[in-house]
Amino acid sequence: MTAIQLRTNETVDPFLAAVLERCERGICEHRLPAHRCLPCARELGLLRELTDSTDVRWQFGVRENAIAWAHTINMVFPEHGAQAYARVSRCHDASDRAPAIGELVALISEYTTAMNQLAIATSIITEFLRQCRGRRRPGARIVAPGTETGGPIDERRALESRVRMAAWEANNEAHFLFLIRESDLRIYPRAFGLHAEVLRCGYSRIDASNGAESEMYSDDALAPDLGLPMLRSTWRGDTTPTAPITWHVVAGP
Ligand SMILES: [Zn+2]
Repeated sequence: MTAIQLRTNETVDPFLAAVLERCERGICEHRLPAHRCLPCARELGLLRELTDSTDVRWQFGVRENAIAWAHTINMVFPEHGAQAYARVSRCHDASDRAPAIGELVALISEYTTAMNQLAIATSIITEFLRQCRGRRRPGARIVAPGTETGGPIDERRALESRVRMAAWEANNEAHFLFLIRESDLRIYPRAFGLHAEVLRCGYSRIDASNGAESEMYSDDALAPDLGLPMLRSTWRGDTTPTAPITWHVVAGP
């Protein structure tokens, strides 16, 4: 990968899109244009996959989304959050419009140096996703937690419960993989398509007390609705790609 296209996908939250664009156009910590620096281009690719399908205005409205942006700035830059809230409030008081995205991104620029933009963008995007768990586009079939199939709470059911929770919280496939990575779960690609895309996967769980790994269960053996193709249908519409870069990082080559 030598270059990253600036994304124009309309399903990306406009604030996150502006943060990413600023990062992609900036100079990275290796003193190269970030999109031409191999390690940074890969990180940018991860962030692009994470931001897919984050345009959540359909459900919460412009005002709620703008508050989520201000809240994200508050969480990432606690000493500057009041400024972000002030700008959001002033815009609403004036016209009930969201603040200009450029204004908030300019705020972020004031707080950061040119050398740590990628780390800042990662913090902003992961914080925004943390706030937006469970938000999906309309019509998505959601895998509800707490609907595990019957039987005793054995190893398989415990694993099913954890995978279901990650699937429920995720906005898209890359987000799901990130949640898996943050948890005590392991994910293994099991079948690949013509373009090396992952078609099926398996899961196991690591015992925190002794590091022992449970038996691996294939996605559809865990529960029919947790099969990877089914999960994909709950996360994405026709426009959202899968997450090949994130797969590579989370599950290995
Ligand atoms: Zn770099």
